[in-house]
Amino acid sequence: MKYALVLGILLISTTSALANNVQDSEHAKKSLEIYRTIVGIPTVAGKGNVPKMAAYLADEFKQVGFREDDTQIIPSGETASLIVRYPTNGLSQKKPILLLGHMDVVSALAKDWERPPFELTQDDKNFYGRGSIDNKYGIAMLSSTFIRLKKQGFVPNRALYLVFSGDEETGMVTTRMLANERPELATAEFALNSDAGGGSLDANGNALTYKVQAAEKTYVSFELTLRNKGGHSSRPRPDNAIYELSTALLKIRDYHFPVRWTDMTRNFFRITGKQLGGELGGVMLAFAENPTDKQASDRLELESSYVGTTRTTCVTTMLQAGHAENALPQSATATVNCRIFPGVTVAEVKQSLQTVVDNDEIEFVTLGTPIESPVSELREDVMSAIAKAVHVRYPNLDIIPYMESGGTDGMHFRKAGIPTWAISSAFMDPNEMFAHGLNERLPIKAFYDGLDHWSIIIKELAGK
Ligand SMILES: [Zn+2]
Repeated sequence: MKYALVLGILLISTTSALANNVQDSEHAKKSLEIYRTIVGIPTVAGKGNVPKMAAYLADEFKQVGFREDDTQIIPSGETASLIVRYPTNGLSQKKPILLLGHMDVVSALAKDWERPPFELTQDDKNFYGRGSIDNKYGIAMLSSTFIRLKKQGFVPNRALYLVFSGDEETGMVTTRMLANERPELATAEFALNSDAGGGSLDANGNALTYKVQAAEKTYVSFELTLRNKGGHSSRPRPDNAIYELSTALLKIRDYHFPVRWTDMTRNFFRITGKQLGGELGGVMLAFAENPTDKQASDRLELESSYVGTTRTTCVTTMLQAGHAENALPQSATATVNCRIFPGVTVAEVKQSLQTVVDNDEIEFVTLGTPIESPVSELREDVMSAIAKAVHVRYPNLDIIPYMESGGTDGMHFRKAGIPTWAISSAFMDPNEMFAHGLNERLPIKAFYDGLDHWSIIIKELAGK
C-alpha cells in the first residue's frame, strides 16, 4: 500500500513536470491567452459582440507582422466575418487552403450554469465556458497557429486563409457570403474546418478513433397540412382533418427510404465494425462487404446511432390541430423533419413522401432554405497530413471519414464547390461533449495535446 502510494506520487510529479513544460511554451501561453479572451466576449446572436472579437483577433495578427490589408473584417448587420490571409512565396503554384471556424456561440443562461458562461474557468480536469469547445477552441487554435508560424518566419508555398464566420449558429448569412461572394476564397483548392471531426476517447482516456467529417446530410422540414370545413362535434363525419393526417403520418412511419452508401460509408462500417466486434460489429462488416445485403441494412436500421448513416430518414416531430374541444377540426398540421443522404435532392424526398401518403388534399410546405451539399471525396495529400498530426499523438490510430447529420459552415463551402473536411484538434469522450448545452467544457489535456495539430497539417500541405 505504502509502496503503491509512493509510486503514485512519483508518477503524478513526473506527469505534472511534463505538463508544465508544455504549458510554459510561448505558443501554449499565447493560445491560452487568446482562448481566455475570446470566451470572455459573449458573441451570442443579437448582442453585437462579434465585431469586437474580430477586431481583437485582427490586432493580434497585426502585432506579429501580418500587414494591414492581410486582415479584413467584413461587417454584416450586428455581426461580422474575419478573413486573414497568410501571404505565400507562390513557389508551389497550388491553389489556396481555407481554414474555417465560427466566432459566434449559442446563447447561455447564466442562472442555469454552475459557472459563469462567458468567463474561461477551470478545475483540475476541464476548461469551462460557452464556446470552450464550439467553436472558440478551434478559433483560438487556428489563430495561435498563424501567430506561431509567422513568428517562426514560416512562408507557405500556397496562400492560406483563416475564414471565420459570425453567425454559424443562427442564420449563416456570413457563411453564405464567405462561401459564395469572395473571389479570393472561391479559388481555394479545399477547406479544413475546425468545427467538427476530432478524436474520441473512452471513459479511461484511451483513444478509440479519429474522425474526419467529409459530408453532411441535408436538413429539411416539411409542414403537412390538411384542411376541412369542420362543423359541430355532435355531428361527426368520416372526413376529419385529424384522422386523415394521422393516417398519412402512420404511412410515413412505416416507409423506409432506400439504402444508400458511398465509399466513405463502407469504409466507416469496415473500421467501426472491426472495432466494435460482436453481433453488431459483424453486421457492419457484412454491410461494408456488400451494401445490398438487406439483412445487414435492416439490422443497422434498428440502431438509432447508425440508421442515418445508410439512408435518408424522416420523422414527425410536431403536431398542431383543431381549435375547440366541441368542434370538428378545420385543420391539422404536422412537421416532418428529414435528414437527406447526400446525392438525394429535397425535391425527390418531398415527392417520395407525397407518394407514400397518397392523399392529394395534404398540402406540403418546405420550411426554410435547405442546403444540399455533396460528399467531399478524400484526398491522399490531405489524409496523410491529418494522419501525421494524429499519429504523433496516437500512433497507428484509425482515421475514419464520416457523414454528419448536418449543421456546420462546411456544407456551404461544399455546395460552392470547395471540398471541405472538418478535423478538430480535440480528443475527448463523446459523453463529455456539452456543445450547445450547460457547462460546456474542454479537457485541459485536450487543449495542450492539440497545440501542434494545425502547424503539422499546414506545414505538410503548404510547406514543402
Ligand atoms: Zn460549431
